[in-house]
Amino acid sequence: MNSMDRLRVGIVGAGMAGLACAQALAQSGAKVQLVDKGRGPGGRLATRRIAWPEDPNLMIGIDHGAQILHPRDEGFRAWLSAGEAQGWAAPWVPRLGGPWQAPRERAGWVGVPGMSALAQAMRRDLPVASGQPVLAIEPAEGGAWTLRDGAGMVFGPFDRVVLAVPPAQAAPLLETLQPAWASALRAVEMRPCWTLLAISEDVPRDWDVLEPETGPLAWVARNHLKPGRMAPPGAGTWVAQAGAAWTQAHRDDSKEAVQDALHTELQALLAPQLPAAWHHLSVHRWLYGLAPAITPGAPRCWWDAGSGLGVCGDYLAGSDVEAAWLSGRALARSIALEPVSASA
Ligand SMILES: Cc1cc2nc3c(=O)[nH]c(=O)nc-3n(C[C@H](O)[C@H](O)[C@H](O)COP(=O)(O)OP(=O)(O)OC[C@H]3O[C@@H](n4cnc5c(N)ncnc54)[C@H](O)[C@@H]3O)c2cc1C
Repeated sequence: MNSMDRLRVGIVGAGMAGLACAQALAQSGAKVQLVDKGRGPGGRLATRRIAWPEDPNLMIGIDHGAQILHPRDEGFRAWLSAGEAQGWAAPWVPRLGGPWQAPRERAGWVGVPGMSALAQAMRRDLPVASGQPVLAIEPAEGGAWTLRDGAGMVFGPFDRVVLAVPPAQAAPLLETLQPAWASALRAVEMRPCWTLLAISEDVPRDWDVLEPETGPLAWVARNHLKPGRMAPPGAGTWVAQAGAAWTQAHRDDSKEAVQDALHTELQALLAPQLPAAWHHLSVHRWLYGLAPAITPGAPRCWWDAGSGLGVCGDYLAGSDVEAAWLSGRALARSIALEPVSASA
């Protein structure tokens, strides 16, 4: 038995950072428990399932968070390649179009059949309690910790607690336990992002993705053209993300107003070849959507061996799914380096 075999770790947040940390710790023998306020794991690695209006039993997945991965780290690339062999990841080479640039392709990777499949693959046998936010980290006997959620449920005791949630959501949990961390977390400005999801009659295009250089929309993708996606015959699915400035200016507008505005913008980009019918329109607001640039050389995670508390997330290592993966694994390594005390 190695020292990790006795370690109990509670992880708040089951997005890519929390899952990567949990997976690495579990592989070294720790007993992990993830707690996430969402309906399932994945966080911003998300696929919304929408019932096809003409057959409510037919569910159509549209990625409404992360869209495509461009791996830089060899380990992350190897994980995606393993996913291709196992059927939950695939390369995607979208054609970029629009009047802003010469037509070109940009290779990347996606989850199959949706981006959330990447989180499902990472989760595997890891225990995840879903549906309630953690509201407090509380001291327990022998220097351990417990987690209390919104329904009053208590998880633990844990020897280590990891916070893998966006900074504004981590800060209140650390206010009294790590005031300096809480203050640093409050200073991280995550950018919100309004996202339009649509299903329409499909109209052929000579592009798969647009990245408009001006106007409210910053990204438009024909979601059904990603590998392994399903759309009824003759239908197409769209994801249109508003840019940072437009989202900020309309952050607190009603969903109806934002949906109208983004749909109008999408149609302006598609004109004159407009779909004859729109079968579904909805919007999602990511309040803590996109992380700012990191300071070069900054640590990829925060770890305090004295208290047994750690923090990870995309915003400590970059601003994408790979950054979250790197941060979660960096924290798992830091935790594994600390010997477990006799009381643990
Ligand atoms: C619109 C959009 C498009 C993007 N496009 C791309 C892209 O194309 N490529 C790319 O690589 N990246 C993209 N990103 C960024 C990428 O999605 C994130 O960097 C990454 O998913 C972050 O992972 P994370 O684990 O750090 O955080 P999250 O995914 O945010 O996970 C945090 C988890 O914590 C949970 N949580 C929060 N508070 C609590 C609490 N109190 N108690 C319990 N649980 C809690 C949340 O429910 C969530 O599941 C995009 C993001 C957005 C919003």
